[in-house]
Amino acid sequence: MLSVAEATDKIVPAFAPIGAELVSLDQAFGRVLAEPLTARLTQPPADVTAMDGYAIRAADAAALPARLKVTMNIAAGYAPPGALKSGEAARIFTGAPVPDGADTIVIQENTDRDGDWVTIREGDRNPGQHIRRAGFDFKTGDVVLRPGRRLSVRDIALAAAMNRPWLNVSRRPRVALLSTGDELVNPGDAVGPAQIIGSNGIGLAAFVTACGAEPVNLGIARDTMADLDRHLDAANGCDALVTLGGASVGDHDLVQKALKARAAQLDFWKIAMRPGKPVMFGRLGALNVLGLPGNPVSSIVTATLFLKPAIERMLGLAQAAQPNPKVVLGRDLRANDLRQDYMRARLTTDAAGRATVAPFDKQDSAMLSLLAGADCLIIRPPHAPAAKAGELVEVLILGGGCLSI
Ligand code: AMP
Ligand code: MG
Repeated sequence: MLSVAEATDKIVPAFAPIGAELVSLDQAFGRVLAEPLTARLTQPPADVTAMDGYAIRAADAAALPARLKVTMNIAAGYAPPGALKSGEAARIFTGAPVPDGADTIVIQENTDRDGDWVTIREGDRNPGQHIRRAGFDFKTGDVVLRPGRRLSVRDIALAAAMNRPWLNVSRRPRVALLSTGDELVNPGDAVGPAQIIGSNGIGLAAFVTACGAEPVNLGIARDTMADLDRHLDAANGCDALVTLGGASVGDHDLVQKALKARAAQLDFWKIAMRPGKPVMFGRLGALNVLGLPGNPVSSIVTATLFLKPAIERMLGLAQAAQPNPKVVLGRDLRANDLRQDYMRARLTTDAAGRATVAPFDKQDSAMLSLLAGADCLIIRPPHAPAAKAGELVEVLILGGGCLSI
């Protein structure tokens, strides 16, 4: 059997970035930036006030109270009418440019207004206070966002502030998904007594979307060479093909045979992991083919390990080699066997605010209800010794999705 790490090393490097396209900023959330993003302007464009109040010369208010003549009124969006002279104050509102000659902002709460005059009663008058200097966020030409970054909500706001209405982003890889099995019907179809819903096709389509790629659902192929062959035609033009089920060595597992009949170069591996085990990988012409197990939990867990990083490579996502976090175990675990275990588990916060993790009692690879109820997978390396509650275990977090704020 192949280890998870060996399988990852064989699969993931076979995928390469697939190129870029131009999209408008309002379509760019969650996409992967494919160019260094330079600011097209300086932000803020001038020294501006961060508060509502009066722009003055600090020296004019060295002693309090200080009475100054209000000679101008400056709102956000308007240039100051002129420079401020000694003995003068400018009424000013948040975001408005600070007039030349002024060097501090006094907040309005510390003043009394009387017609054309203002009295500074109290408060600090330090030079520079409440003034946002021109370009303190970024300046024209600054590279503020780098390629290979998945654009978050915050990045979109930043790109907008940088006046970048169009961005070059990685093209979304088209990932074809082929379900296989005589027993499968689509959700909503009539279900015969010996039939089940082919949940993996639609589940993996959502998975592919969550990773930032575009799913192309090829539907369900029956367990015959002719029907498999017909469905495989539809993978033309896609960037990767994922088959679900039918990859084992049973009489009805024809996926390998159908692909080989099309001259695919394929390896079939048993991977030392649970859930999972049978995984197929190879090439059909220019197309990378990944064959995942049919069991619903196995397909989602193996997709998390092998398909997600493959999609990330096609997207040109800069790989941040972040190790999985370690979390305090909430209960004892038995020693593990030779297969790396991915135990469906729930995270809770204890009274001290520490995250703790506990696996479900049942770990069957066909139980989608428990997978859906899990927050994470506890990773148990091959031959891991028994672990006691309170020890740290590595977890693979499932929640949060691939898009975040
Ligand atoms: P297979 O690898 O084709 O032998 O499938 C293994 C198990 O997964 C069988 O119990 C199948 O019925 C089930 N299975 C296969 N494909 C799917 C699917 N698309 N959705 C749900 N279950 C599936
Ligand atoms: Mg099958």
